[in-house]
Amino acid sequence: MLELGPDNIRLGSTARDKDEAITLVGRAMVESGFISPAYIDAMRGREQLASTFLGNGIAIPHGLPEAREQVLRTGIVVVQFPAGVPWGDSGLAHLAVGIAARSDEHIQVLANLTGVLGDAATAARLAVTTDREEIAAHLNGKRAAVATPETVAVRGASITVVAPSPHGLHARPATELVETAKRFTSNIAVRRGDKSANAKSLISLLGLGASGGTELTVLAEGPDAGAALSAIAAAFARGLGEGQPEAPAAEAAPAPVRPALAYGGRMLAGVSASPGIATAPVWHFQRERLVVHPTAPDPLVQRDRLDKALASATAELHNLYEEFWKKAGAAKAAIFKAHLELLEDPELVAEAHRRIERGASAGWAWRETYEERATLLGGIKDALLAARAGDLRDVGRRVLRLLADEIQGSETSAPDHPVIILAEDLSPSDTAKLDPRTVLGLCTAGGGATSHTAIIARSLDLPAVVAAGPAVIDLTDGQECIIDGDNGVIIAEPTPADRALAAERQRQSLLRREEERRACYLPAVTTDGVRVEVAANISSPKEAAAAVNGGAEGVGLMRTEFLFLQRDTPPSEEEQLEVYEAILRAMNGLPVILRTLDIGGDKEVPYLSMPAEENPFLGVRGLRLCLQRPDLFRTQLRAIFRASRLGAVRLMFPMVTTPSELTQAKAIAEEVRRDVGAKPVEVGIMIEVPAAVVMADQFAREVDFFSIGTNDLTQYVLAMDRLHPVLAPQADGLHPAVLRMVRQTVEAAKRNGIWVGACGGIAGDPAGAMMLAGLGVAELSVGIPSIAAIKARMRGLSMARLEEMARRALDCQSAAEVRALAVAG
Ligand code: PEP
Ligand code: MG
Repeated sequence: MLELGPDNIRLGSTARDKDEAITLVGRAMVESGFISPAYIDAMRGREQLASTFLGNGIAIPHGLPEAREQVLRTGIVVVQFPAGVPWGDSGLAHLAVGIAARSDEHIQVLANLTGVLGDAATAARLAVTTDREEIAAHLNGKRAAVATPETVAVRGASITVVAPSPHGLHARPATELVETAKRFTSNIAVRRGDKSANAKSLISLLGLGASGGTELTVLAEGPDAGAALSAIAAAFARGLGEGQPEAPAAEAAPAPVRPALAYGGRMLAGVSASPGIATAPVWHFQRERLVVHPTAPDPLVQRDRLDKALASATAELHNLYEEFWKKAGAAKAAIFKAHLELLEDPELVAEAHRRIERGASAGWAWRETYEERATLLGGIKDALLAARAGDLRDVGRRVLRLLADEIQGSETSAPDHPVIILAEDLSPSDTAKLDPRTVLGLCTAGGGATSHTAIIARSLDLPAVVAAGPAVIDLTDGQECIIDGDNGVIIAEPTPADRALAAERQRQSLLRREEERRACYLPAVTTDGVRVEVAANISSPKEAAAAVNGGAEGVGLMRTEFLFLQRDTPPSEEEQLEVYEAILRAMNGLPVILRTLDIGGDKEVPYLSMPAEENPFLGVRGLRLCLQRPDLFRTQLRAIFRASRLGAVRLMFPMVTTPSELTQAKAIAEEVRRDVGAKPVEVGIMIEVPAAVVMADQFAREVDFFSIGTNDLTQYVLAMDRLHPVLAPQADGLHPAVLRMVRQTVEAAKRNGIWVGACGGIAGDPAGAMMLAGLGVAELSVGIPSIAAIKARMRGLSMARLEEMARRALDCQSAAEVRALAVAG
């Protein structure tokens, strides 16, 4: 039987929050050789689905079932937090019992744990004890009597079920059973041999110690006993959430499961921030030292220098924002927008001006001001505000660099050969400057998986590991290491076998990509014969050519507003015509959706002199602007219709909210078409405002197609600004509320005989593509680099499976749950 050894008990630990506690527990499990570091992510994932807090100061963090591959051997560690750790909203945890279970050997330890759980005095003592043996004795069942499960005298109807294999009735399936039982008023008991437990009590059920395959009798007594037993029988038949015994086995696994780790070299465990693997010498990223003199004689000159530096930094950030917007989408570019806002803070600038008046140089005044503010923010015990402190320093340095009297050391002295970058932390600006040709991976001592660094690393397709602890800083420049972003580890001093393993994994990943690339021109037909069209999102003729080469079956979204950005006047009809024609030529007869101007919100065009708005995303944007500016709208429509003779143009209006807007837009378009003498084209609308979803039936009668803009739809449905520096990462289009809107849209479209596509970010995310296709979206329009992978994903699954998954997703409570469903397949 599994024993908890004193070596696996860590006394006197501290953690600020649940996340930090799980990292500590996970690291202890890695060090004991129970799990590979990637399992720590699965432990976090588990918490997102349901808290593992049991009560009486005890939590049992463990991973999701699909991460079992990451369990190297079954084992248990206990980390004691005498001062307690807030376990989300559940309560203060003093003992975190980390469980790595390959099968059900740990079930007795769980049963023993219920003895402590039922005994507040013992739990309180173990919370502060300095004797490891005392904890071990209790969990190994040697000290206190194992709690006798409360005897539940239930007479009445009964069924026989079998505890799920191979892991038995451990915490996760037992929770599922409790949740099912609690839906009924009847008394329900579960009996194993001569022990019986209350089916509505987790502690009681765990006390049964029922391992996989054990026969159990469920008894129910009360007004709804029959229904309760049927529901419980069904829950057991589904494996109590432990997998789907009846699911078809033949299909390809949708997501490559991370392989278990078999490295021999020293492993430094962090958190996986971006997948991939690379071997290269490490190199410490060091920021330049910016030297500023404290004083300067002329305040007016200094004030002018500061204002000019602020203006230049603002321009730089606008460029960075647009560059990332194009490369990686608005959500990923959001951080630079947030930096812009910080720079525009009048208080900050006024304070720096005051310091200048008192004789400080521009650089000194600016640095003192933003450092003071950042220190204040960083001192507040709130992770989100602490992150803002980091952002403020990042943007502050951007301005300071322009004011520095001397710059010591240079960031550009990065070697020109491939390296893995190591850093304490990387600011978004640092990460954006990296050259993917020489940077093969990123590893930071601090940071987190949802940090902006992680987001940017993913968009640059670089393996990244964050929160690896200070040990990474001690690695020597030039030392060859392996970065394994899939598993969130750095392997220092890799053995020859490690190198071979890494090389093999690199080779396999390249092969997989190569295989996907070679198959990129094949249609995406599911294993049961349903075709899903995969098109590209583009913003220029150059990208149209790349889209065709990448396997796109058309353009699902041409963001025409890019023709209007970074210039001083709007493009003329002829200029636009030239661009649209070039795109149609490149697409060579494949359908091209040209979306009319979608300005406003996050895309500002200074020369249009639009009045500043408090809430630009709720203001005059998209079609609303076009209807207010018929000059712009008509010019664009003329160019579109004139170009339409060269290919299969589809016209699409963005941000449509009310039927009357559509009526007006269609009337103007029709007038222009006649004027130009062009043939009719298909007309569609973006579905990105909840009102359009709710009125989809009416819209569907007026158009030929819908394209769901999940980026905007998500922000409007969840009421989370897509550029919000804190909320943007949570504004996940896989949220069930958004998916329900998608379903409603598809149903309305079907009733009216039109097709539905999707062109928001989640269409290019494998989990999103699966859910959208399962909900009946016929065309996925994605970023060019994702085309081959999304097609491959569709080819590996049946539509029946996708539909089933999507149905279950609609009943989830969060985007995290939906993502877990997609990973489990
Ligand atoms: C969307 O909102 O999902 C969309 C595709 O449009 P954009 O990102 O250009 O606003
Ligand atoms: Mg949009």
